[in-house]
Amino acid sequence: MRVILMGPQGAGKGTQAAKLEEETGATHIETGDLVRSEIKSETELGQKIKEYSDKGELVPDEIIIDMTKPYLDENDSWILDGFPRTQEQARALDEALEDIGEELDMVIVLEADDDELVERLSGRRQSEATGEVYHVEHNPPPEEGSEEDPGPFVQREDDTEEAIRNRLDSYHEQTEPLKDFYEEKGILVTVDASKDIDEVTQEVLKAVGEDK
Ligand code: ADP
Ligand code: AMP
Repeated sequence: MRVILMGPQGAGKGTQAAKLEEETGATHIETGDLVRSEIKSETELGQKIKEYSDKGELVPDEIIIDMTKPYLDENDSWILDGFPRTQEQARALDEALEDIGEELDMVIVLEADDDELVERLSGRRQSEATGEVYHVEHNPPPEEGSEEDPGPFVQREDDTEEAIRNRLDSYHEQTEPLKDFYEEKGILVTVDASKDIDEVTQEVLKAVGEDK
């Protein structure tokens, strides 16, 4: 299975990719996570891309393509989350697939309006230990002090109102036009992501033929 999960920041790509990975065994490749790991390692490249990431701007295509390609080559079955975000990246992905004689199965677009997305991102919390993503209201973590307590939690540095608005602008300007590109290929499926998490999961599983 080779699937792209597309959608604005906060639509639930990471949340749904984790469920898809669990159900299908395909590898979740999240470019935002690759970017954050590189920054955390304090490499020269990490320092360079931190400037873009902190402001909510896209990292240059060449860098992000070089970072992502090894993961595409290593895995036969994947769920791409956060890539491609530009025409250049979409072309690079096509070329990488052509090189190995494979095709993309599907592009699933999660749609929700900007006000809902800002609210979701402002309440997003991530477990430092497990990487699991929660929401203070819509998907609260197990109770503090309980056996399953995955705390402490961190709030992402780019989940500030200003960076969120920048990221949503760049989604609408640079990434959303890719919908036409994949629509023309006949592989685009749109899912209403404003519903609650479990309902969206059902729709996503239905799209890939894994609903029960
Ligand atoms: P993305 O990967 O698209 O940026 P996330 O999966 O990180 O989005 O979700 C953003 C925030 O919204 C998280 O706090 C998550 O728990 C919450 N969330 C995800 N899907 C839904 C939903 N359908 N309804 C309400 N909150 C959601
Ligand atoms: P995300 O976790 O998907 O919101 O990504 C966090 C940040 O990483 C973004 O704001 C960008 O700076 C960078 N990033 C992640 N994926 C890409 C991509 N495909 N192209 C350019 N920049 C990216």
